[in-house]
Amino acid sequence: MEIKAIRGFNDILPDETGKWQFVENTAREVFEGFGFSEIRIPIVERTELFSRGIGEATDIVEKEMYTFTDKSGNSLTLRPEATASMVRAYLEHQMYSFDPAAKLYFIGPMFRYERPQKGRYRQFHQIDAEVFGVGNPMVDAELILMLIHFLKKVGLEQLELQINSLGCRDCRPRYREELKKFLTKISFRLCEDCQRRINTNPLRIFDCKVKTCQEAIADAPKVIDYLCEDCRRHFGKVKEYLGIAGLLFTLNPRMVRGLDYYTRTAFEVVSYQLGSQNAVTGGGRYDNLFQEIGSVDIPGIGFAIGMERLISLMPEGKEFIRYPQLFIAALGEGTFKEAYRWINQLHLQGIRAELDYEGKSLKSQMRRADKLKARYVLILGEEELKRGRAVLRNMNTKSQEEILIDNILEIIKNKIVLD
Ligand code: AMP
Repeated sequence: MEIKAIRGFNDILPDETGKWQFVENTAREVFEGFGFSEIRIPIVERTELFSRGIGEATDIVEKEMYTFTDKSGNSLTLRPEATASMVRAYLEHQMYSFDPAAKLYFIGPMFRYERPQKGRYRQFHQIDAEVFGVGNPMVDAELILMLIHFLKKVGLEQLELQINSLGCRDCRPRYREELKKFLTKISFRLCEDCQRRINTNPLRIFDCKVKTCQEAIADAPKVIDYLCEDCRRHFGKVKEYLGIAGLLFTLNPRMVRGLDYYTRTAFEVVSYQLGSQNAVTGGGRYDNLFQEIGSVDIPGIGFAIGMERLISLMPEGKEFIRYPQLFIAALGEGTFKEAYRWINQLHLQGIRAELDYEGKSLKSQMRRADKLKARYVLILGEEELKRGRAVLRNMNTKSQEEILIDNILEIIKNKIVLD
């Protein structure tokens, strides 16, 4: 039987990778410009890092982790997200001893055992950016500005920035209690999962996709009405700096984000092109995560962009596939060696050129050049070679000209560059 890829794990084929490279290169360019540096983290970590960092009562830890025991009996997990690993690396390498403020980004695959559907996979890719060591709300707005700038640069439109504040350890417990009281009263209207969540993680009810649950909690208390003085001030400043950065936003009091570790600022960028899976990216502040992982008090804020969803939103029409700039159709034994010499030279100079290796007829080689969408074809016959000439055909205009073989590489390069 033919072996196929695992459900929810996708190949990204050559005609798609151009888009992926464009997105990754744009992220690197934008983020580096904002002062961020790349960090690379392992795919596998100790399970404890995620259960402690993300929170036991989250969907990810409860049911979505790819956890296994290695040959030494350690419980390991394929990373379901990047932030916990980035925090671990920052602490493990004492990056704070150089400068407490670290601006880091990461690009790579994540693994969650979710039910695969359009826009939701078991291996998916994220672009993450995090600022560690700065609690100032100015950074919240700066990070969001960088995010929006990046999304626009890759061509996304119809975006809405939504923000909320989730409070902190001082004020969220009071909100949680009020929410629990409310939910207990209407529990008969909630789905089984949500009924269980009332005690385990009541805030998660806002993320429930069941319509009747959403209707039942329409009048639920809002976290924003329970913020302490510090959190209220922080949120006010975030809004003020977003205004200074020239960003429009809407308040979404029901946005709670899936992970336990968020505190204060939470944000999402949603798109109106995606149907139900409409969050392209989300993030927030997590001033308690460092204490969970390393018992130190360091603030952090970050976001994760889902690359599959981002790419599905990018406008069509932009050319990402690279075609050969030149196809050399060599006819006859003697011409092959010459063509081989030239093609090597062109490759060394970064010109994407193709040669027919099979010694086929001119007609068949031209058909192949056409199929590959080569820009130019250099036709090299034994007779022409003897006369020191070759024919260069422009495949767009169908015009062709005879060119001298001396300086042929220069001539071709100039044509390709000027084209
Ligand atoms: P999260 O880490 O859950 O906050 O997710 C951040 C972003 O990653 C989301 O906005 C999605 O775009 C993307 N994402 C999360 N889970 C998946 C998944 N299973 N498949 C594809 N993209 C995902």
